[in-house]
Amino acid sequence: MPMPISRRTLAGALGAAAGAALLDTGPGRRFALAAKRGMPEDTIILSSNENPYGPSEKALDAARHFGGIPNRYPDSLEDDARAAIARSHGVTPDHITLGCGSSEILQMADDAFTGPGKKAVAAEPTFEAVLDFARVLSAEPVKVPLTADFRHDLPKMAAACDEKTGLVYVCNPNNPTGTIMTGDEIAAFAAKVPPSVTILVDEAYHHFVEDPRYRTACELIEKHPNLVVARTFSKIYGMAGLRLGYAVGQPSRISKMAPYATFSNANAAVLAAAIASLADADLVPRQRKALNDARRWLVAEMTKQGRRTIPSETNFVMIDVGGDVLPVIKAFRERKILVGRKFPSLGNWLRVTVGKPEEVQAFAAALKDIVPARAA
Ligand code: PLP
Repeated sequence: MPMPISRRTLAGALGAAAGAALLDTGPGRRFALAAKRGMPEDTIILSSNENPYGPSEKALDAARHFGGIPNRYPDSLEDDARAAIARSHGVTPDHITLGCGSSEILQMADDAFTGPGKKAVAAEPTFEAVLDFARVLSAEPVKVPLTADFRHDLPKMAAACDEKTGLVYVCNPNNPTGTIMTGDEIAAFAAKVPPSVTILVDEAYHHFVEDPRYRTACELIEKHPNLVVARTFSKIYGMAGLRLGYAVGQPSRISKMAPYATFSNANAAVLAAAIASLADADLVPRQRKALNDARRWLVAEMTKQGRRTIPSETNFVMIDVGGDVLPVIKAFRERKILVGRKFPSLGNWLRVTVGKPEEVQAFAAALKDIVPARAA
């Protein structure tokens, strides 16, 4: 079912505006980020799992120039970016479709595979866009609670897939918990889900994972034509404001999703920046080290403070605050620190994004005041 025209137009317009507005990385950019949430300029933003370091210099440089064609539709850059992404996955470009962020990829998957009378299955809690878009399309959302160790209950999710299910969404690592499913667990799941159901594995935080039991689901695509992987340039590549995501899958599934994309959904600036990012071999290891080191520091500090955390393989951490998280979120805001929102099924847990060392230090110090720590 086609999505309403207003939603398509908005996604494209937002992507284009972000592309045009992005290139000030100095104080102006900092101000713009804080201002968008109605907060002062020196606000610490640890709320949306963004990357505080932003794009690499090479990516910014490419974006600034984007081939000198801001007045032209970026058709050839789109082909080049798709080809570069395909090469990075060892597949042909017909295995890739681009999105205005991976959010648009999730929306395209809902458009292609759900609709009235169809079901979309996902964990609870997880990144909610897939179920939100499914609701817009009058599909039935089916939520399967996480296991006691805050991971997807894949056997229950597979069992929830019936003849009415169009889409099952696996967020690996999961937002908001930061937990992973192992490569073997995902493979066993893919073997159980009926081939009529599209399995969408969202790997937005793929590059942060260090657990050796994790493997990308891209390696299952050849065996399972019903499996599609979503990726984004918003996290490790630091380009959340520029907007680019993509799906990898067999052409039979990708070609069902692609017609739902907004025309020219990826702007010239982000396409050029993405190509430069993929060519920059140092970028991923550098960003991963900086953010994972800061996460390790934060988790160690929380342990010292006597607090429970959920083991995270991402650039965010869930911390048990021992009571309703809403007043805690409010108290942080009053101290000009933005943290994640409340996830009702994990109502005592605070999600904090990993920032620069000084930002996570400021967070840890404020938490000590806001929720006095138990003796370690
Ligand atoms: N998927 C997950 C798991 C996310 O956490 C997010 C954003 O936080 C997205 C997708 C959407 O990201 P974007 O649209 O910026 O690619």
